[in-house]
Amino acid sequence: MLRIGCHLSSSRGFLAMGREAVKIGANTFQFFTRNPRGGKAKELDLADVEAYLEFAGEHGIAQILAHAPYTLNACAKDEGLRRFAYETMCDDLQRLSHIPGSMYNFHPGSHVKQGAETGISYISDMLNRINEHGFETPILLETMAGKGSEMGRNFEELRAILDRVEDSRRLGVCLDTCHVFDGGYDIVDNLDGVLEEFDKVIGLARLNAVHVNDSKNPRGSHKDRHEKIGEGEIGLDAFARIVTHPSLRNLPFYLETPNDLEGYGREIALLRSMAG
Ligand code: FE
Ligand code: FE
Ligand code: ZN
Repeated sequence: MLRIGCHLSSSRGFLAMGREAVKIGANTFQFFTRNPRGGKAKELDLADVEAYLEFAGEHGIAQILAHAPYTLNACAKDEGLRRFAYETMCDDLQRLSHIPGSMYNFHPGSHVKQGAETGISYISDMLNRINEHGFETPILLETMAGKGSEMGRNFEELRAILDRVEDSRRLGVCLDTCHVFDGGYDIVDNLDGVLEEFDKVIGLARLNAVHVNDSKNPRGSHKDRHEKIGEGEIGLDAFARIVTHPSLRNLPFYLETPNDLEGYGREIALLRSMAG
């Protein structure tokens, strides 16, 4: 059974997200841990979490993906911004310790003229310091489109970050189909080759989740504009191969397409029908 869901608004709590997911045929979902533009998180409502966990158990939702605010920049030049990224991620991971089976995805950051080398060292430093807390939730680095000075624009950059984390056992990667396509990887005509390369550079054992998005722009554009499944440059046939690929089909898939709930429901049904 394909594990698939979409990005949901977390403003009404976990039980509400669980119910929404089930309503649209999803068996997992993604959510922002707080306002995506940063800011303080609401106090975690433990009664809501408990009710959610019971509901999730009854409806076969085993794993969900928390997404860090995309404004965090672990490799900012400003020390205060770097500290803010570290503190926010620690706070998020502390909260996620109440939600078994969750994973935590973040954008590595933008080095903004400091160079990739400096970016890599700041990001791995932060992950080393996060590790000192002993959080159990897996942390995933997202593959990025390489817009501006975005880190994680290719597999090698993610590998370089992982290499400098002393204990990387809880670190993984979330592959975003729009982003890797934007980054130049040919997942349309050479999905096997791209996944072989992923395996060679990072190792497929690190691949823990897939963001499944079509792209408004052609391969290699570095623009990061998501499109609805089948309506962009990646196209439906490629998604049929993605959801059935032996290296991917057992991973959880998350839609982040420009859609409302009903639209997500249709995309989930479509991808399920292609997965067979
Ligand atoms: Fe993301
Ligand atoms: Fe994504
Ligand atoms: Zn994106």
